[in-house]
Amino acid sequence: MVGIVLVSHSSALAEGAVALAREMGGAEVRIEAAGGTDVPGQLGTDAERVRAAVERAMSSDGVLVLMDLGSALMSAEFAVELLEAGGDRVRLSAAPLVEGAVAAAAAAAGGASLDEVAAQARDALRMKASQLEEAEPGRAPLALAGAAGPPDAEAVIPVRNAIGLHARPAARVTALARRYDARVLVARAPDEPRVAATNFTDVVALGVRWGDALRVAARGADAAAAVQALQALARDGFGEGVASAPAAASSSASATVVAAPAPAPAAVPGPGAILTGIGASPGLATGGAHHLRRAGILEPPPRRSPDPPERERERLQQAIGVAQAAIEHDRDELAARADRADADILDVQLALLGDEALLTRADQAIAGGAAAETAWYESTREVAEVYRALEEPLLRERAADVLDAGRRVLLALPGAPAEGEPPSGIVLASELAPGDAARLDPSRVTGIATAHGAATAHAAILARALGIPVVVGLGEALLSVPDAAGLLLDGDAGTVMVEPPPAAAREAQKIAARRAGWRAQARRRAHEPGGTRDGTRIEVLANLGAVAEAAAAVAAGAEGVGLLRTEFLYLERAELPDEAEQVATLRSVSAAMAGRPVIVRALDAGADKPLPAVPMPAEANPFLGVRGIRLALAHPELLATQLRAVLRVATEFPVKVMLPMVATGAELREARSMLDQARADTGIDAPLELGIMVEVPAAAVTADRLAAAADFFSIGTNDLTQYTMAAERGDERLAAHLAGCQPAVLRLVAQTVAGAATRGRPVGVCGELAGDPAAAILLVGLGVTELSMAPALIPEVKAALRSVDLADARAAAAAALEAGSAAEARAVAARLLPDPS
Ligand code: PEP
Ligand code: MG
Repeated sequence: MVGIVLVSHSSALAEGAVALAREMGGAEVRIEAAGGTDVPGQLGTDAERVRAAVERAMSSDGVLVLMDLGSALMSAEFAVELLEAGGDRVRLSAAPLVEGAVAAAAAAAGGASLDEVAAQARDALRMKASQLEEAEPGRAPLALAGAAGPPDAEAVIPVRNAIGLHARPAARVTALARRYDARVLVARAPDEPRVAATNFTDVVALGVRWGDALRVAARGADAAAAVQALQALARDGFGEGVASAPAAASSSASATVVAAPAPAPAAVPGPGAILTGIGASPGLATGGAHHLRRAGILEPPPRRSPDPPERERERLQQAIGVAQAAIEHDRDELAARADRADADILDVQLALLGDEALLTRADQAIAGGAAAETAWYESTREVAEVYRALEEPLLRERAADVLDAGRRVLLALPGAPAEGEPPSGIVLASELAPGDAARLDPSRVTGIATAHGAATAHAAILARALGIPVVVGLGEALLSVPDAAGLLLDGDAGTVMVEPPPAAAREAQKIAARRAGWRAQARRRAHEPGGTRDGTRIEVLANLGAVAEAAAAVAAGAEGVGLLRTEFLYLERAELPDEAEQVATLRSVSAAMAGRPVIVRALDAGADKPLPAVPMPAEANPFLGVRGIRLALAHPELLATQLRAVLRVATEFPVKVMLPMVATGAELREARSMLDQARADTGIDAPLELGIMVEVPAAAVTADRLAAAADFFSIGTNDLTQYTMAAERGDERLAAHLAGCQPAVLRLVAQTVAGAATRGRPVGVCGELAGDPAAAILLVGLGVTELSMAPALIPEVKAALRSVDLADARAAAAAALEAGSAAEARAVAARLLPDPS
């Protein structure tokens, strides 16, 4: 006979449902309860309890497991992994707990097979659902699973970003689903449980990986739009770009190793002891140890006798609101200080604070008489445990995000202890949560060392953006280092030396001071015009992907915008921006740049940048498909609207426009005649230069021809490298092919410059290569006169250019063209830098 296990957060519910099912199925049904945890009365689920129940219910016919909400599924999955044998005979069911248990018990008692029992359980809601829908016409069912009738919209969506639906992509799915008036459910496979797309933890816990096909079903007024928007998001790799293979296992493997707790209490590291971990952000740092014990650790809140549940709920809601506002503030500050992509990491925490799994648990505990502090503390810990138990190392690291978001709420509850002095010196922590990294003051903190965590952790990414050296995974021994002990941290070697010999500390300080001095001096002179030591003028500009980034660009010394990626106007929205909106946005950017020139790149959609509002058929090789100018010409109104908008702004500000992915003269000529048409339509005859991006080798080798119709050239080395080396950008396995300074790419740069010179056209570079100080020297040596990059990189690139004469740069470029590898080519110029690191 098939056995049945009921998993619930409440042991009373699990046992009650067992009793009910026995009543229906008969006393001989093998049905076991696995509810609650070892702490009497505590709500929650426990994988070990589930495993024991499955063992008790096991027979040669198999076991069906039914679960209630949230972590019950995780505990059940984990329990199956813990089984020594018979795991292949266990089936986890998406059926409703009570109705499913009754239907399954009846079927099992009748001798049905595991498949039949599972089918009966899943169908258990059908009758109730159809009765209720009849009784209340128009009322949307709470869940689509089991409800009568097909969904209003559905799709099977291939998941092609390298690491699947981990935290950031899941946060994007959640945010998107919340925008639509529809109930959207997602599942990893047809026979697997569906979860609400609005529920972050559940979406993450699906464990969707690269290569999976996400099943989406939606009901409601916006069902079709929601499904389409999800499809578009998936085509964009959920904001992370698509990859041709799953993420390489190497970083995950190291994360697994370093995340494992040390087996025994660690000895206190004495003077001269060297702890070895993983370098996560380069550079040397010295300073006193400053333990940040709260990071990644949730201190139990002070005890308080609870008010009535209504009042406790209110307190909690207010605290969540305060925490959300604080996280949003940190995120915005970070966006201004560093990189927008890094700031987005804090969106994961915002998604967590709106997560049903956390909120429902806390609410249940409050209903049971707990104070808001205790309820929130317990539910945060429980959800963090769910993450810690996940198989995927990147997802396990999200436990730190849960704890940090949870800690923010605890600190926001009235009566919470105040936070201490801001840290300085070298910060030591078990793990560093993104919120902590965002709050660190780079003028006080010289380095960061953590016992656990991986180089891929969000906090490490944030610290890199702030230029703070970091070593992670140093083991528990780090936490025994006495407060204020002198430390020498080497972010390149991945080591921390305790109380280093004075000579070593002095040498490290000298190197660190030299680097810091070099960076500070570069920042001080960031507002000087770009150029070489002997006075050759080189414009140093910013690449922008949002209006808000303009201010940071000006502050970093940008002399204008060399690449305004206008895709931000189109992505993640169902309708196209109209001309007026585009004019307003371009005006805002130009106004923020205060008279500096702005090069607007016409929409570059397709491939890794799908457009929700423009249907694009699936392509076998999207990077070789209808993207960039090809897409714009296939939908002429897209380009025409943009050209009219840029023309209008050109009457007030110094703007230019350029076309992405041009490969032929015909494309350029067609766009130029559209510009003429836009002039006729608007009646505006303001001067407006039309340039092209050189991203396709064909454009580089025919630059002399294209120069007849292009006013300027801007080389997109990201795509040019991809197409020259036949190596998909973003594919980690091809890092060697994609390395900057490939001699083949440098030769195409030289060819572009030579072609452009036949008509006196200027050539800039706006790919990543322009932001590397050594590569910048080579590009200038090849004849490039304008470099555009992420704003944070501007000061050091200007400083690098100031340190060489044009003749030095030319000699280096000539040698680089003959180099045998990208590394060799870069090294030629790196030797010229004042700080060759
Ligand atoms: C490039 O390809 O180098 C470039 C700047 O364009 P994007 O990175 O936006 O494709
Ligand atoms: Mg490009």
